[in-house]
Amino acid sequence: MTNRTLILSAITAIVLCAGWVAATAVNRPQPLRSQHSEAAATPPQEMVAVTAEGKLYHRPDCRYIHGPSRMESGEQAVADGYTPCTRCMKDARNR
Ligand SMILES: [Zn+2]
Repeated sequence: MTNRTLILSAITAIVLCAGWVAATAVNRPQPLRSQHSEAAATPPQEMVAVTAEGKLYHRPDCRYIHGPSRMESGEQAVADGYTPCTRCMKDARNR
């Protein structure tokens, strides 16, 4: 191996490493909690109710919320991997 190919392969290795670090450092969104539901196209602007065990986010007055819920912004709920409740969030998706 000549000096030149050695330097070239060293540079290639450094570039590959830098690319890998950059790719893994990016803050990726959480995987969806429910594989059966689609992610919201646009996060709701209002505050939504989520539960620790649940996979969906709801309007605060939804009767399909099970267990204690907490309020968070729609944007945060989507970022946490929650998907819209099909009962109470249906009309919100088409707004
Ligand atoms: Zn709901």
